[in-house]
Amino acid sequence: MFEFDDRIAIGVSGGKDSTSLLHILAKIEREYPKASLVAITVDEGIKGYRDEALKIAAENCRKLGIEHVTISFKKLFGYTFDQMVSRLKRKADVKQTPCAFCGVMRRKALNIAARDIKADKLATAHTLDDETQTILLNIFHGDVLRIAKEKPVTDEVHPKLVRRIKPFCEVPEKETALYAYVKGIKFQNTPCPYASEALRNDARMIVDMMEEKHPGIMFTIFNSIERIRPALEELAREEGLGECIECGEPSTDRVCRTCQMRRLIG
Ligand code: SF4
Ligand code: ZN
Repeated sequence: MFEFDDRIAIGVSGGKDSTSLLHILAKIEREYPKASLVAITVDEGIKGYRDEALKIAAENCRKLGIEHVTISFKKLFGYTFDQMVSRLKRKADVKQTPCAFCGVMRRKALNIAARDIKADKLATAHTLDDETQTILLNIFHGDVLRIAKEKPVTDEVHPKLVRRIKPFCEVPEKETALYAYVKGIKFQNTPCPYASEALRNDARMIVDMMEEKHPGIMFTIFNSIERIRPALEELAREEGLGECIECGEPSTDRVCRTCQMRRLIG
């Protein structure tokens, strides 16, 4: 996943997965003097939640001597996420959950921040649990080609897109939590106030139930997708990648999903 001289950006939310990843990568990076690490925290503007996480992320970075940058929704999109949700709630025709909006915007914010600091790679702490849930979610949404794009190491597809890597993609969430506890790492435990509305919770319930009854099934799902990925990628390639006519960011549609969502928010 890494080269010896990579400038690596890490998405650090302050939760157990990303703080564990931060500590592990910091430990590895010490052996590679030409590599460098920068932590990025996206401040969505979720009162009583993100403010605490930001402090925890900053504290971890300070302890490890890692540069820490933040990028906020307010600055990028003009509204905090709380403001966006209250605007969306007034619109009866918007059916998506807050997380559907937040996920797309956060992804874009992370890419912009990683590009600004000239990172070669953007590491995120998606675990095996996240990966298997995402596979199910893409099927629930009828968006199977997205499965091809959500791979553990993305290709260089566009000069404005920083390559994304997921070092924990084969690590179950229980193990990242265990690592954080054993190492005494401080992380945020409070759940996001909008999380309960997400379809992801149902996907998590299904995956957890299956894993409990049939241990190892998450690995099986992950490996099955890896086997059929080349065929899916072939199909996805036909979609092509251009630039959004509104914001200029890479997009498969004329208007990217973030700009479509900004129109809905009004
Ligand atoms: Fe955003 Fe949903 Fe995650 Fe909260 S739970 S930070 S709204 S994606
Ligand atoms: Zn756009």
